[in-house]
This record gives sequence, C-alpha cells and structure tokens, in this order.
Amino acid sequence: MALIGVWIHPHALDSREKVESVVETAVQVPIDKLIVLVKDLDGTLHFKYGDYSPSYDYLGGLIELCREHGLEVHAWFVTLCEGGEKPSGWLAEHSESAVVNERGEVTGWICPSSDKARKRILSLFETLLGEYEVDGIHLDYIRYPDPLVIKGCFCERCGRGGYQDEEWIMKGIENVDTLVEEAHELVKEYGVELSAAVYADYPECIVSVRQDWGRWIMDGLLDWVAPMNYTNIMRLFETRLLIHVSMIPEGILLLEGIGKKSSTSSLSPGKMLRQAELALRAGADGVAVFSYEALSEQDLRLLRLIAAKY
Ligand SMILES: [Zn+2]
Repeated sequence: MALIGVWIHPHALDSREKVESVVETAVQVPIDKLIVLVKDLDGTLHFKYGDYSPSYDYLGGLIELCREHGLEVHAWFVTLCEGGEKPSGWLAEHSESAVVNERGEVTGWICPSSDKARKRILSLFETLLGEYEVDGIHLDYIRYPDPLVIKGCFCERCGRGGYQDEEWIMKGIENVDTLVEEAHELVKEYGVELSAAVYADYPECIVSVRQDWGRWIMDGLLDWVAPMNYTNIMRLFETRLLIHVSMIPEGILLLEGIGKKSSTSSLSPGKMLRQAELALRAGADGVAVFSYEALSEQDLRLLRLIAAKY
C-alpha cells in the first residue's frame, strides 16, 4: 500500500484537542508517517530539553495516541537554520559556529564545519530519543543556505572560495555529510529511522547547497527520503520525479514530496491527486505532503483514495 506522510506544524498541535483531532484524521486516511516539527526555523524547541519545556508538550501525547493506531511519528528538525538572516536561539550565543556570508557577516545558519555545533545538534537528537519513543528523526535544512538568499560559508574553517572552487565546494559537502553520518550512527543506537527532506533539484543541489543526498542513500545513511518536489508545473514535477525514482537503491523508501501549499506551489485538490498518482505509478513508495494545515476535507478524501488504490 502507498505510504502517506504529512509534515505538521506546531500550531496544528498546540492543545490536547488538536492533537486528538490530528490523530483522528490521520487514522482515517491513514497517514502512516506524521512528520512533526520539533525544532523551528528560529531555533525554538518544541520538546523537553534539559530545564526547558515547551508551553504544551504535544509530542508525548501524539506518540501515545499514534502508538494505539499503529501510526509513526517522526521528529522533524530544522537542522542547520537558526534564525535565517540573523542568528537566534542557541546560535545567537555561539556566533563562531555560524555561516559567514560573502560580506564577512554572521548569518542565522549553523555551519556544519563547527564541531561544537554538530555536537549540540546531536545532543538535541539524543535528548529527544531518550525522552520520547519516536519512530525516527527527520532532517530538514540539512544543507548550506541557498545562494539565492545567502552565499556562504566563508567562515575561518570553510575558508575563502566560491561556487566554482572545487576544493571549497567539496569541503562543504563533506561537512554536511559528516553531520548526516554522525546522526545516522546515533539514531541507529536507538533503533529508529533517519530520514530527510531534500532538494528536488538533484544533482545541482550538490553544489548550490552542498546537499549530496544521492550519496547518503547509496551509503545507506537514510531509511527514507522525501525530495521536496514543490511546483505547480506538472512537466517539472514529472521530470524531477523520474530522476528521483531512478536514484533510489533497494531498501530505501522514496516518499515524493508534494507541495500542497509552499513557497513555490499551491495545488488544487485535483492537481495534488494527479501529482500523487504520477509519483506512485512511477514507482515511489509513497508521498509526503506539505503540509497538514493546508489540507482541505476534499484533499483528505483524495489522500484516502490514493492510500487505498496504490
Ligand atoms: Zn563555515
């Protein structure tokens, strides 16, 4: 049966009633993988960490209810962005670990070359895995910033370079790879899955954001991958999809990412259905929809149809 994953933001889960309603909906479709945001773009954590506790700890409640119904919960981390333009959260206090732009300014992105930063990220994963029985860790923003927004990194560790400088690009790729390898090692100690939301434009993303997810799946570092194929243009969707399907090795699941509503797409229910059907017919194991809050009753009915048909 086709797997359905859905990314869910905190505001859909900020009370017990909302958590129950999400689970009720998820059971009906069924949504096999609930991908739940636990670390935000600004570094805010939505789970218990040390002395810190979120205003409403939805993760625990969600896991308990999902267990009863055999649904999976994946903890979704905005991994390397912490503020975007300017550092916030942990990064604000550790600007030596930040990505530096071409003007030499510190940005709100964590540079994975920093041992201290990778250690901190891994400690977040470890704390969450020790506290909550999730089915996996889901890596998002597992890359350098998009050069259309921020060019970098030109920190002391990454050095001077540019997008045509192979040595600089390779160093960046290796830094991101190292973090994924370390995450894999840790997550496997807990016997759960590691997955990632990745750029749909492969292999260009190897250079643009130093995200070589094709290598990660070949090396067995991920259990499943969701390329964010968010577009209204069917021709682009299908062309990228065929590349993704051809890349997936045995034993790794492909959940093609569909942008119901995202910064680059806004799909009618009919178009969402057409993209999902294309993906499943082409050989994807399932689809991951962005995001829960954008799904109408009609969308949910169509997802139910897809889950039953494929
Ligand atoms: Zn750097």
